[in-house]
Amino acid sequence: MSAPKKLYIKTYGCQMNVYDSERMAEALGGKGYVETQSPDDADMILLNTCHIREKAAEKVYSELGRFKGLKAEKPDLKIGVAGCVAQAEGEEIMRRQPLVDLVVGPQSYHRLPAMDDAIQTGAKALDTDFPEDDKFDTLKARSKAKRGPTAFLTVQEGCDKFCAFCVVPYTRGAEVSRPADRILREAQELVDAGVREITLLGQNVNAYHGHDQGLAGLIWQLDKIDGLERIRFTTSHPNDMDDALIEAHGTCGKLMPYLHLPVQSGSDRILKAMNRKHTADSYIRLIERIRAARPDILLSGDFIVGFPGETDEDFEDTMQLVRDVHYGQAYSFKYSTRPGTPAAEKPQLPEDVMNDRLQRLQALLREQQRATQASMVGREVKVLFEKPGREVGQMIGKSEYLHAVYADAPAEVVGQVRAVKVVEDSPNSLKGRLIT
Ligand code: SAM
Ligand code: SF4
Repeated sequence: MSAPKKLYIKTYGCQMNVYDSERMAEALGGKGYVETQSPDDADMILLNTCHIREKAAEKVYSELGRFKGLKAEKPDLKIGVAGCVAQAEGEEIMRRQPLVDLVVGPQSYHRLPAMDDAIQTGAKALDTDFPEDDKFDTLKARSKAKRGPTAFLTVQEGCDKFCAFCVVPYTRGAEVSRPADRILREAQELVDAGVREITLLGQNVNAYHGHDQGLAGLIWQLDKIDGLERIRFTTSHPNDMDDALIEAHGTCGKLMPYLHLPVQSGSDRILKAMNRKHTADSYIRLIERIRAARPDILLSGDFIVGFPGETDEDFEDTMQLVRDVHYGQAYSFKYSTRPGTPAAEKPQLPEDVMNDRLQRLQALLREQQRATQASMVGREVKVLFEKPGREVGQMIGKSEYLHAVYADAPAEVVGQVRAVKVVEDSPNSLKGRLIT
C-alpha cells in the first residue's frame, strides 16, 4: 500500500474559511490525502484566502513566492489557491505565479477531487464558477473521527445587501441558505464525533431562510439534539434580527448569551452612504430589545473608520454610539478600498486621519472590554473546556460569554461544561477555580 499523500492547508480570514478548509480536507481525504501541519513535507499545499481588506492578494502572491524553493526540490508538489482571492483574481493567479496548479473559488471546492485528478496529469485546473449544483449535496458526510468539543457549521452563504465598502456579494455570490434537514444531519454527525458546541456560520446568518421560521426555527430544532449543549451564530446584520430570534435569546437555554452585531458607524449620514439601510438610533433600539430579552448578553460588533466622506463629527457619532451601547468585545478596521465596490470610486481620506481615529476608537473599545472582563471577577460562569492550558495541570475553555477561561482541572474536563468561579481577569482571558 502506498503512503498517504500529505495535504497542507493554510487558512486566512473568517470562520467560514476555517469551516471550508475542514471540508476541503475531508473532500481530498477521499482521494487519500491526510493533513500535515508543515508545508515542507506536503504533496499538496492549499492557501484558503481572504479578500476582505487591502493587500490580501499581494500577501497571497508573496506567500506563493516562498514555495518556489520547495517546488524546485519536489517537482510533483501541487500548489493551489482557494477562497475569496481565488474567486476575485481567477486566472490572473496562474499568470502571475506559474507555480500554481489549481485555483478554486468558495462555491466550487466540492469539485476538488476531480481537479486533483486533472493536476496529477500535469494540467492546470481553474474553477471559479457559481455552479448550479449545491456543493453541500456533493460533499460527503462529516468525518467520523473524534474531534474537539467545538465546531463551525455553515448554514448560509453569500450576501445580497451590497454595502458600499464590501466585496462579499462579489466573491461569495448571492445569499443562499442550506435546507434545515441537511444542517440537522450534519450537526448530529458533529455531535456523534464529540462536538458539544456548534457555531452556525453565514455572512448574514440571521437572514437564514432554510427553515420556515428562519434562524430561530433552526436553532429550536438544534436545541433538541441530545449531547449538543451550546449553540452560537455569527455574523448577523441588524436588519435581520427578527422577533423570534430576539425571543430565542431569552428562552432557548442552549443559545449562548453572546451576539456579534456589526454596526460599522454611528453616523446616519455615513450609514446611508454605506448603504447599510439602518440608522444609529434603530440599532440602539434593537440592542435595547435584545437586552430586555437577555439582560446579561455580551455584545460584540464591527466598525469601519475613515469611510470616504467621514468627518470628525461623523466619527464622534461612532464614539458616542460605542459609549451608549457598551461592547464586551469588538473589531474595528480602517476603511480599505476594494476594487469594484461603489465606495472605491469616492475620494479617500488621508491615512493619518484614519490612523488617529482608529487608535481613539480602539482605546475606547479596549476600555470597555477590560471593564467587562473585570466585572466577571467573583462571578460563577459555565465553561466548556477545550484543551490543556499553558501551564501543567491547567485546562482552558470558553465561558457562555465567549471569554477564554483557564483553571486547574483534570484532563477529563475536556468536552464538559463545568461551573467555574472567576478569580482574576487579564486583558485576554479570565482565571477561574473549578467549583465542583
Ligand atoms: N455581514 C457582516 C455585516 O454585515 O456586518 C460582516 C461581514 S464582513 C466579512 C466582516 C467585517 O469586515 C465587516 O463587518 C466590516 O466591518 C469589515 N469590512 C468589510 N469590508 C471592509 C472594507 N472595505 N474595509 C474595512 N473593513 C471592511
Ligand atoms: Fe458585506 Fe455584511 Fe454588508 Fe453583506 S451585509 S455587503 S457581508 S458587510
